[in-house]
Amino acid sequence: MTILSNCREIAATIEMELNAVNRNRDAVTCVAVTKLRSLEETEVLYEQGLNHFGENRVEGLIEKQAHFKQTDIKWHFIGSLQTRKVKDVINRIDYFHALDRESLAKEINKRAEKQMACFVQVNVAGEASKHGLSPEELQDFITLLEAYPQIQVVGLMTMAPIDADDETLHRIFYQLKKLQEAVAERNLPYAPCTETSMGMSRDYPIAIQEGATFVRIGSSFFEETE
Ligand SMILES: *Cc1c(COP(=O)(O)O)cnc(C)c1O
Repeated sequence: MTILSNCREIAATIEMELNAVNRNRDAVTCVAVTKLRSLEETEVLYEQGLNHFGENRVEGLIEKQAHFKQTDIKWHFIGSLQTRKVKDVINRIDYFHALDRESLAKEINKRAEKQMACFVQVNVAGEASKHGLSPEELQDFITLLEAYPQIQVVGLMTMAPIDADDETLHRIFYQLKKLQEAVAERNLPYAPCTETSMGMSRDYPIAIQEGATFVRIGSSFFEETE
């Protein structure tokens, strides 16, 4: 069955890439991106031991959560989020991967019932079509987040261009890692920033080589490979 063999293949690839760069086996958390996927498909992933799920729409998240009551599941919201939808999402999730503007921080701060683990999204590649702060804007943005005590900056997130070659991917992920370390070095209590959320189906092996701690993998779990 496709999903089962894909699960094994992805787990093996993650382990191999970690090994190749002398990182611990548990250094990467795989977020299975289940957006637009059925409950049955998601069930198979859970049975294979995956318990971090990523959704990018409010409706999809609510549907999955109504079905999966297991308390060991961590829910990730990975897409850009309209400010007016924050209240529907923020108290349902464990991680938010797309903090990219102050208005969103303000709304999260207002609505969150407990401190929210957030990744600040950085547009490392500078693509006009992508969300995220420029690397130059990042540090000032981190500074202003001090005013929003419900926000905990656990790390940085980026998306690479879909047509990037390997060399470009290495450069983008390396840059995000350096930016993450620069924030971490500030030792801000509200921004430990120890994590990097980078790498998707196409490029997660390279992201792991460059130090990703969270990869977000969707289509590779579900698609026929041969
Ligand atoms: C859909 C999506 C993914 C997963 O992409 P795949 O190419 O299917 O692995 C990862 N991150 C974000 C932000 C996404 O929207």
